Amino acid sequence: MTDEDKDHIELIKKSARSVLKDDIKHLHLIPSVAIKLLNVTNDDNARIEDLSLIIETEPVLAAKILNQVNSAAYALPNRITSIKRAVNILGFSTVRQLALNLLFYNKLTQRNSKQSFDLLFFWQHCLYVASLSKRIAVALKYPEPDLVYTGGLLHDIGKVVMENYGRVTYSDFINSTSKSLHSTIEEERRFFGITHAEIGHVFCLEWQLPASIMAIVAYHHDQPTETSPYAKFGTEIAIVSFANYIAWIQGIGSASHDVPPPTLQSAVLETIDIDQLDLDTLLQQVDQDMQSTREFYGIHLPCLATLRATLIKKAINLSQISAGKLFAADSDYTSSKKPSSSLTAPHHSLNPEDFIPRTLEAIQEEFSFDRTIMFTIDPKRRCLIASYWWPKLTLPAKLQPFEIGINGISGALLKSLREKKAVIINSKIERNNPLIQRLKITEFIAIPVFHHNHLFGVLYADNSLSKKPMTPQLLREIMPIAYELGVAMFNAKQYDQEKKHAQVDHLTQLFNKRIVNNFLAEIFQEDESKLANIAIGFIDIDRFKLFNDTCGHQAGDDALKIVADILRGLTRPGDLIGRYGGEEFLFVLKNTDEAGAHGYAERIRSEVERRGKIMSQRFHGHALTVSIGVSMYSRHYVHYNDMIEAADQAMYRAKNEGRNRIVLLSSAVMSDKK
Ligand code: GH3
Ligand code: MG
Ligand code: MG
Repeated sequence: MTDEDKDHIELIKKSARSVLKDDIKHLHLIPSVAIKLLNVTNDDNARIEDLSLIIETEPVLAAKILNQVNSAAYALPNRITSIKRAVNILGFSTVRQLALNLLFYNKLTQRNSKQSFDLLFFWQHCLYVASLSKRIAVALKYPEPDLVYTGGLLHDIGKVVMENYGRVTYSDFINSTSKSLHSTIEEERRFFGITHAEIGHVFCLEWQLPASIMAIVAYHHDQPTETSPYAKFGTEIAIVSFANYIAWIQGIGSASHDVPPPTLQSAVLETIDIDQLDLDTLLQQVDQDMQSTREFYGIHLPCLATLRATLIKKAINLSQISAGKLFAADSDYTSSKKPSSSLTAPHHSLNPEDFIPRTLEAIQEEFSFDRTIMFTIDPKRRCLIASYWWPKLTLPAKLQPFEIGINGISGALLKSLREKKAVIINSKIERNNPLIQRLKITEFIAIPVFHHNHLFGVLYADNSLSKKPMTPQLLREIMPIAYELGVAMFNAKQYDQEKKHAQVDHLTQLFNKRIVNNFLAEIFQEDESKLANIAIGFIDIDRFKLFNDTCGHQAGDDALKIVADILRGLTRPGDLIGRYGGEEFLFVLKNTDEAGAHGYAERIRSEVERRGKIMSQRFHGHALTVSIGVSMYSRHYVHYNDMIEAADQAMYRAKNEGRNRIVLLSSAVMSDKK
């Protein structure tokens, strides 16, 4: 282990200590398991198989048994990763005693009624991932399927630890993540300062679980680096990560609250040959496993195998499209003829509306195709849109613009998208191709347009009138142009993002001051009747300088993001929020009155205070609060700056009156002044 790895472990241990209470000796069991366990341990005729079955299906019990069997007391030459083996080695009476200890602990502790971390849901997820990991391991002929089963069962153990031992619990975390744009892992890091995978890692270290299990627990969300001591468990990690991903996209995640599924990492797809897996069968087997567990415990778990198999295959295909490699014929293209005008056409501007038609025109001229089309990808709606045509005359009105769903694409076209290769598609071979059907043609060529692994669209050409055949030579010649088009699209996108960056504050993803001012300037152009119901508010974080000094700049940035998230969650569409300065935010409410504006400001003030309290441990006891000044429109304000100024003054009054409060300047007051 390198010094860097050691430092990393020390660091997460330290963070874990600040997040968790005392030693982690006992964890809560799944209640239905506890009851079953009680029955089995009280039954004189119970067999070791019955006990084993219970242990094998419960993460906390499994961890405890592995902890015991791998402890110094047993002095075994090899670390035990299979639960069955562990139970056999320990023997009935020891396992029974361990289980009873855990049961006893469970009886002593009351469950919190506000608990949002649903143990049953969590358990179902762990069982599913364990069972699927094992089935995948068997299908891939991986030698130790029981090891990945155990890893799958324990992969999210960090969440249970946080729920049971966190100074702030996992339920608190779930309760506080409202509308977020970020992944669970990012949210956890922001909320706890540490992730469930890292807590799990520390837990495995404390309980001395085998390194292979530790690797899965610690790295199921991102692979270890090549030099990491855990790198040798790449296959085990990949299998469990993949099973975890499949569970999530089917709605069998580890928590019942609505969060985006984890991303399918490219390393997972590189490690496991997914084409080798018969997902349909695998999912049916896992459903049977789940069904037996259900019967064993007498509880309900769902079953929809075939439908889900199709769903998963499509999702994987799609993610492969974006993770694909540069086209294989790359090397050919230097030797081919380079038609000059079509090669340079994509670089004539940074606006796709400009350079795409220009490129299509150049291609059509140089290669004398009858028709060229650029299909662009809409990743959200998962479709290809026939966006640009050349010559324009070739488009019958009823055909444009048309789209085809990516889900409906199969055969050579799908392969071409996945492998990023040009293809010739002929109706003799692919009669059902959606483009052949739609455009009533016999042959076309399709070349994916991409750059840096980002697929932008498909370049299409046909000779529907002349019937001149498409040749591989043509494909080779047109590929470099598609490549240049990809570069141009990439540049255009970058440029667009740069433009957007200039409008959006990077840290909070809220509009910046300039855009807020533009918006206000526009409103102030409108007639008085519309202006009458406007409120402007200044939100300033209290004693933020001190906050940064005590908690560090990173925690300060996190607090800013939290306030921004709260604003996003509580603001109506049509109203505007922005980051106006360092720790100052501005809101503009339309169609409101004093009561409405005050109510909105109060919701924000109290929510910031509530979230701050939950995070108070991370924030070293420093309360996160805001002072808000609100001004209501009055005729007195000629320029929007006057109204902002008034809100600012109101905010300062709120500061002077003791902070963590709202001061609203009513329009009547302003009129009186006048
Ligand atoms: P008051 O209650 O009177 O508003 O006190 P304050 O400390 O919040 O006011 P002051 O304006 O003196 O300090 C604002 C602090 O906000 C200073 C600066 O370090 C911090 N700040 C501004 N922008 C950022 C940022 O992007 N990240 C972090 N972490 N801190 C920031
Ligand atoms: Mg300030
Ligand atoms: Mg401040």
